[in-house]
Amino acid sequence: MTRQTKQRATLMSLLRTSKQHPTAEMLHVDVLRELPNCSLATVYRLLSALSEEGAIRTIPTEHGANRYDIVEDDHHHAICTHCGQITDIPDMVSDQARSEVERWTGFTLNELRLEWRGLCPNCRTKAHQQN
Ligand SMILES: [Zn+2]
Ligand SMILES: [Zn+2]
Repeated sequence: MTRQTKQRATLMSLLRTSKQHPTAEMLHVDVLRELPNCSLATVYRLLSALSEEGAIRTIPTEHGANRYDIVEDDHHHAICTHCGQITDIPDMVSDQARSEVERWTGFTLNELRLEWRGLCPNCRTKAHQQN
């Protein structure tokens, strides 16, 4: 395995096991445990290559740092606008809805990405306590 192949494989497996939708910095901390010489710049470069290939998804957030997610199934996200936490939501939009939208637009649609934005349970509790 070349060094780059190994770095890619490590990133992909970290993203596969993480439920956190990590930032590049978070991934870098975990990568270093397996590949102590891998720089943050390398992590950024690999993430942008993987994203261009469609293997991973880049999720911009209000908090500056992009979050990353592996693309292995259709799912959607609930994003906390306060702390940036991202939770997966299963795909609940029916094929019938897609056919209807295809009829309206004339498009052939393959992919839907929904992002619900709001407050996560933690932040909601805190906001409630402050009032
Ligand atoms: Zn939150
Ligand atoms: Zn996700």
